[in-house]
Amino acid sequence: MKNKIFLIIFIVAVCSWIVVSCSLDDPIVGDGTESSETTTPTTTVLTVALSQSSLTLTNGGSSTLSVVCNDATAATSAAWTSSNSAVATVSQSGAVTAVGVGTATVTVTVGSVSATCLVTVTSSDVAATAVSVSPTSATLSSAGSTKQLSASITPSNATNVSYTWSSSNTAVATVSQSGLVTAVANGTAVITVKTNSGLTASSTITVSITAASSSSVYAVNTSRCSGCGHCLSACSYGAISFSGGKAYIDPSKCTGCGKCYSRCGRGAISKQ
Ligand code: SF4
Ligand code: SF4
Repeated sequence: MKNKIFLIIFIVAVCSWIVVSCSLDDPIVGDGTESSETTTPTTTVLTVALSQSSLTLTNGGSSTLSVVCNDATAATSAAWTSSNSAVATVSQSGAVTAVGVGTATVTVTVGSVSATCLVTVTSSDVAATAVSVSPTSATLSSAGSTKQLSASITPSNATNVSYTWSSSNTAVATVSQSGLVTAVANGTAVITVKTNSGLTASSTITVSITAASSSSVYAVNTSRCSGCGHCLSACSYGAISFSGGKAYIDPSKCTGCGKCYSRCGRGAISKQ
């Protein structure tokens, strides 16, 4: 009997020790289950960036930006905008297209977080660096004779280049805007081509007209001349002038082309 009591006391003591030990190591919560360690819930901070923070394009060029986001699901709702659509546009997939010279800021927004890329658009033009004329000189020996000049721009891929032709002395030689020089009278004229950027080149044109033989020039019979002026407008060589209301043909300038003769309805012009 004494041994049984001792055994019972021993068992109770052992059980009590086990219970106390468990209560010290793992507190029991109200529902009887073991509690886990107390943890602070973590909140993921959304981060958004762009694949490039700056981008340079030539006008007309394009490139695609991509959004770098730690939430792939949120990234699918990214919204894209351009601060200056006259310079660069952006699609809702991040495709940037340069449409004008200047700068624009492209912004992507995911939720309440944004990232930007500075887009710089440069001109796609290639500037002309020089212009030349061929030939650089020529001689024309008859009134009305022509010489075609040509202009050459350097570099050959220069863009938006236009030019104009001019004559330093239109009484000697004229030039069309296609570079065709026409002799008018004896003398020298400098034909110049000028680009829209101010580059110039020139050709020296000497006009040395051999006078028509005296037998081929025309003259005016003033007694028949009414002074109508039709012959004046027909002559391209400056050979006709007026004095006292009558036409006069300068034999040193007359080429004998006969145009004035054809225009005079009064029979006042005839070959000498
Ligand atoms: S066209 Fe004949 S009429 Fe008329 S101005 Fe000349 S020459 Fe005189
Ligand atoms: S013929 Fe008559 S049109 Fe011809 S060059 Fe002489 S003046 Fe002029």
